[in-house]
Amino acid sequence: ATGLGLPESEAELAFEGALRPQSLAEFVGQEKVRGQLQLLLQAAAMQNRTPDHILLAGPPGLGKTTLAMIIAHESGRPLRMTSGPAIQHAGDLAAVLSSLVPGEVLFIDEIHRMARSAEEMLYLAMEDFRIDIMVGKGAGATSIPLDLSPFTLVGATTRSGMLPNPLRDRFGFTAHLEFYENHELEQVLVRAAALLELNVERRALAEISGRSRGTPRIANRLLRRVRDYAVVKGSGAGLDAVNAALELYDVDALGLDRLDRAVMQVVLSRFDGGPVGLNTLAVSVGEEAETIESVVEPFLVRIGLLTRTPRGRVATRSAWKHFGLTPETPGAA
Ligand code: ADP
Repeated sequence: ATGLGLPESEAELAFEGALRPQSLAEFVGQEKVRGQLQLLLQAAAMQNRTPDHILLAGPPGLGKTTLAMIIAHESGRPLRMTSGPAIQHAGDLAAVLSSLVPGEVLFIDEIHRMARSAEEMLYLAMEDFRIDIMVGKGAGATSIPLDLSPFTLVGATTRSGMLPNPLRDRFGFTAHLEFYENHELEQVLVRAAALLELNVERRALAEISGRSRGTPRIANRLLRRVRDYAVVKGSGAGLDAVNAALELYDVDALGLDRLDRAVMQVVLSRFDGGPVGLNTLAVSVGEEAETIESVVEPFLVRIGLLTRTPRGRVATRSAWKHFGLTPETPGAA
């Protein structure tokens, strides 16, 4: 498994689809965000208008797509799904926007990756439900205004900091999704285990939760690997099976995966605890800086292994301890 929290296969996508909670009430955790969304949707329903545009921000696998589906479902509106990388030109966006039915929810995943020209078109669309379509070239070019049906944009991003301010400002509400607590992941797993018809011991579920990087998608994925192990070995899904399966897949006691460990090893061993700049770090582990910053680091920071300083990333005392290393230069930890 890559720890990136992205779906890896058709089978996983199908499993995720089946697992997705349909309502805010079924959505585990994220108390604050749920309350905020509830109020926003209810107010819109009472006044019979389309809900404000909503931005969902947070690392992969925390439930952004699921929430977009719930928003559409709870407000009884159809949902159109697309993604930033699919919108390479303003024309791609114009085609989507002009075909929306009144009140539709438009979900744009990875909205920070949309083409710049499309972003500008989106400003006007979000504000006035209108776009200007350019026809012709050079001196004869004119723009034709086109009215759109009112819609609710739900944008998802792993990097809200990457969004230009004019775009960010046009969302009525930004929901920041947090990593999940272990007891919340256990709830997610109970549901997934039922779907897999897998009888998992309670303490085995607790163990999986503790190694899931605070991420429901990863919890569900690890559960499937435990299922595989139980099937092949003919063992039950107890604590021993969990430990053996997770060891096989290189998931350590803190839930760190290969990339997490590679990043920590570079900071600890190659740079003696840091500080290390983001780009140096990215090159050293052969990943994109964006992935390091939006996927790997948030979790390492949250569990207290890494801190971000103006001079770069620095390993904490617990990081040295977790990896069984000691700093070479006095005071480096
Ligand atoms: P994102 O869009 O943020 O990458 P998804 O919405 O695709 O994440 O969620 C990934 C998987 O985790 C899905 O299978 C989803 O059902 C599950 N999941 C995410 N959040 C929750 C939650 N709060 N409760 C239950 N399942 C969740």
